[in-house]
Amino acid sequence: MSHLTCRICGSPLALSLVDLGTSPLANGYLRPEDLERPEVHYPLHPRVCESCWLVQLPAFETPEALFGHYLYFSSFSDAWLAHGRALATEAIRDFGLGSRSHVVEVASNDGYLLQYFKEAGVPVLGIEPAANVAQAATDKGIPTLTRFFGADLGEELAQSGRQADLLLGLNVLAHVPDLHDFTEGLRRALAPRGTLVLEFPHLLELIQGLQFDTIYHEHFSYLSLLVVERLFAEHGLTVFDVQRLPTHGGSLRIHGCGSADPRAALPSERLCLLRRLEREAGLDRKEGYARFQAQVWDLKNDLLAFLLDQKRAGRVVAAYGAPAKGNTFLNFAGIGPDLIPFTVDRSPHKQGRFLPGSRIPILAPEAVAARRPDFLLILPWNLREEIREQMDHLRGWGGRFVTAVPRLEVLA
Ligand SMILES: [Zn+2]
Repeated sequence: MSHLTCRICGSPLALSLVDLGTSPLANGYLRPEDLERPEVHYPLHPRVCESCWLVQLPAFETPEALFGHYLYFSSFSDAWLAHGRALATEAIRDFGLGSRSHVVEVASNDGYLLQYFKEAGVPVLGIEPAANVAQAATDKGIPTLTRFFGADLGEELAQSGRQADLLLGLNVLAHVPDLHDFTEGLRRALAPRGTLVLEFPHLLELIQGLQFDTIYHEHFSYLSLLVVERLFAEHGLTVFDVQRLPTHGGSLRIHGCGSADPRAALPSERLCLLRRLEREAGLDRKEGYARFQAQVWDLKNDLLAFLLDQKRAGRVVAAYGAPAKGNTFLNFAGIGPDLIPFTVDRSPHKQGRFLPGSRIPILAPEAVAARRPDFLLILPWNLREEIREQMDHLRGWGGRFVTAVPRLEVLA
């Protein structure tokens, strides 16, 4: 029995989802001079609240330490840019946005999404706590507040007449340590007939797709529709529609509004369907979480066996990407440079550094052509088609792509 309590409802947390041992912060990329220094490891052990069913990790570090300086720039992923463009086009059409509307995005990163609203003549405001990333947005002409979002900032926006007709938050809810403060901020920042659009990785996909590597310390919460609807209800917000998206291995895009908005009384058909799916999968019962640990151990053993076989046969397995999820997998499995001598990443902010914990060097993508590995393990498996296209020259020397989630697969 742990002493931990639930972030939403305060109940004691006794049920384990999966124990991934200990690992350093997944975004703690090391510089060469850091290699002679120790790294702090934290337990990586999400628990399930048996009262409100939030799956969660305790916050070991302050948001300032985790997100104050961030190395993830959304604009470095072509697929993610295309996702942003499609969302903006759809939202402008469906919600009739124009030059008199106001679009606010929480955790707006480098402005990759808001730039498409701006291009269409819709006024925008970004909110991004990582100063280096916010600066990149400002350089593009996207007005951006370098702040953490919560009830206080929501109130400030309301008081200064900057409530949002469209309030966006993509992949931020899982990173929020205080869900009540954040949700209250959303309610205050939303115009009376405004629409709230949030996207977050879906817990159902995590469990059914064995996506245990999406568990890392920056992700405090692993969300289902069931939990978000409950949280919203406590703050006068209502989900009226939901879409399932393929992004990040399977995400939800929820459409929400104030509980007094007429749309709140008209839940869409697909919303009702998803509520039922989650119940059928057991997300509101202990049984829904019972097999995950054993399945994750099997995945780890499969990847280790593959790497050891290749090593003994004298073949080289390199990796592609330096995403946080790769760090979870590599550190859980105890894999280091002896089994994967290097990884490559397109982001110049990561090149020349080392993965936390595993200390595998991160090189530029050109290193693959220069060193001709026999296999390329794609760590960001959610981008595998994009990466296969980018690195197609691997096949020129008989190299093959490998993914390890949801099962070990050598791709044809
Ligand atoms: Zn709870």
